[in-house]
Amino acid sequence: MVDRLGYAPQLVDCAGCERRLPEDTAWFSAPGGGLLCARCAPGDPEAVECVVRVIKVLRAAADGDEDLWLRLRLDTATLQTLERIVESELAHHLDRRLRSIDVLRAIEGRGAVRVPVD
Ligand SMILES: [Zn+2]
Repeated sequence: MVDRLGYAPQLVDCAGCERRLPEDTAWFSAPGGGLLCARCAPGDPEAVECVVRVIKVLRAAADGDEDLWLRLRLDTATLQTLERIVESELAHHLDRRLRSIDVLRAIEGRGAVRVPVD
C-alpha cells in the first residue's frame, strides 16, 4: 500500500534513532520517514500510534506477503489506523511535491515549469 507509492517507509528499525523496534507499540511519522520508537515519537506530535497488529499489517503490505496478508483479520480500529497512515503519507508527499513546484516557479519566474518526477 504505502510502499507501492514508492516511498518505502522505515518499518523495522526506528526511522529516528535507527535502533531495532521492539515488538511493541510504535508511532508512524510521514515526515520522519516511517515508524518511530517511544523515545523518538515525541519528535512528531502528529505521528500515528500503531499497535503491534497494525505494524504487522504494514510490514505484510510492504513485503508483499500475500499469504500473511490474506490471513490477517482487519478490524475497524486497524483499518482506521491504516487509513490515517496512508492519508498522512499522501498529504506529506504531495505537500512536499507541491512546495518543490512553488520553489521551481519562484526560481524560474516565468511560469513555465517542468514538474520533477521522483
Ligand atoms: Zn527511535
